[in-house]
Amino acid sequence: MKGLEQFDLVIAGGGMVGASLLCALSPLVDQYDLRVAIVEAIPLPSFSANADVSVDHHKPSYQPSYDARSTALSWGSRNIYKQLGVWDRLSLQATPIEHIHVSDQGRFGSVRMLASDYGVDALGYVVENGWLGRVLLESVEQMKAVSFLCPAAVVGVETTTTGSLIHIENEGVTQTLETKLLVVADGGRSELCRQLRIDLEQHDYRQQAIIANVTSQRPHQNIAYERFTKTGPVALLPLNEQGKRMAAQNRCALVLTVAEDEAEMLTAMNDKAFLEKLQEKFGYRLGRFQQVGERHSYPLRLQWAKDQVRPGVVIMGNAAHTLHPVAGQGFNLALRGVACLAETIREACIANEALGAMGLLQRYLDRSCRDQKQTIAFSDQMIRLFSNNDLLLSHLRGLGLLALDCSPPLKKWFAQKAMGFTHHLPPAVRVGK
Ligand SMILES: Cc1cc2nc3c(=O)[nH]c(=O)nc-3n(C[C@H](O)[C@H](O)[C@H](O)COP(=O)(O)OP(=O)(O)OC[C@H]3O[C@@H](n4cnc5c(N)ncnc54)[C@H](O)[C@@H]3O)c2cc1C
Repeated sequence: MKGLEQFDLVIAGGGMVGASLLCALSPLVDQYDLRVAIVEAIPLPSFSANADVSVDHHKPSYQPSYDARSTALSWGSRNIYKQLGVWDRLSLQATPIEHIHVSDQGRFGSVRMLASDYGVDALGYVVENGWLGRVLLESVEQMKAVSFLCPAAVVGVETTTTGSLIHIENEGVTQTLETKLLVVADGGRSELCRQLRIDLEQHDYRQQAIIANVTSQRPHQNIAYERFTKTGPVALLPLNEQGKRMAAQNRCALVLTVAEDEAEMLTAMNDKAFLEKLQEKFGYRLGRFQQVGERHSYPLRLQWAKDQVRPGVVIMGNAAHTLHPVAGQGFNLALRGVACLAETIREACIANEALGAMGLLQRYLDRSCRDQKQTIAFSDQMIRLFSNNDLLLSHLRGLGLLALDCSPPLKKWFAQKAMGFTHHLPPAVRVGK
């Protein structure tokens, strides 16, 4: 048992959200002498500064947040990472999405969006989670003033009049941290939310997302495909491989959403049978699928913490809101929340306001609440509409896609959602062009 250590801010969870928040707080740590700690349960790899930038795709997944998935970062998220000073490194292995193609299997309508129509280089970027984790953790490792407690799990939390006491454990050794502000970023199955008795609103979609990297006969040409089928959406995101010509880039990140029972069947199949099923669902826009990598599946649900701020506590990322991946919005929303919280903390530091003060935390929530509600509703309505096989509804859907493709204002609204533009965040974190 070690003694009591005191901090201004402790982040529980060093996943994509916790590590991004730490990067966003980095300038404040130095400028205002903030004492900050991050606690992560799963061991993270250590990278040497001169390490080669290539990611070993054959390495087994080592960490749940930085696993075999890829994330579609919106143009807005790219702007946030630019502000945080990590984009230059991240962009070394980020594949631009120059074109989005949305279609409905067996229906005539489809929507095409081009980055050039909206005056941006890309509508978004695809980044492998392993690479995102590596870049974020390299930045975190360089922050000498921050205590990076890893591997160490938060096993208990007690709120006090001045903040929280956080009990952490590593290989039988326990330690208690005292903090003015606790940021809970321990993911969608948050043990800390349970301990803090945070009420959750939940809806189980009874679907699973199967992810894998696939190789197609034709090059992806930096197009991201979203195809709605009777059994759920198929998303194929372009992935570039270093050293390969543009015309030979044919590796894509697949996110295949299906009902729970079909997911079991699809994960148990051999590669050949799986690729045939995928071909049936997606069609031949990319020619024949030739190869599939390791498959992983994720149960899908919508979850929203009703109580995201309390005196001295704020809930972030998947612990605050877990979304269906259909529109690739979950992490982008969380990153806007990260930028919003960091900006609110910056203002509090300038005004010498206590970090755990409810006024400060409520200000953060008021700023990000509308974004959360709109983004959750967008993803949820999209999956409900496109998972419904009602004949009339599927006709209307086809017409809707045609109308969307023919109506520039409607299409612009849709493209802005995909690009993660928001108009109601504080100016410092507004993420338009
Ligand atoms: C199939 C799929 C595809 C997706 N694609 C996209 C996409 O294209 N675009 C997008 O924007 N979003 C996407 N998402 C959503 C995105 O993955 C999540 O928003 C993101 O992972 C949330 O990160 P997080 O850090 O909040 O949680 P997590 O990634 O779950 O990280 C939580 C961290 O906390 C640690 N932890 C847990 N408990 C403790 C404890 N007691 N003590 C210490 N540490 C602890 C864990 O080890 C982990 O590192 C996708 C999701 C899925 C399932």
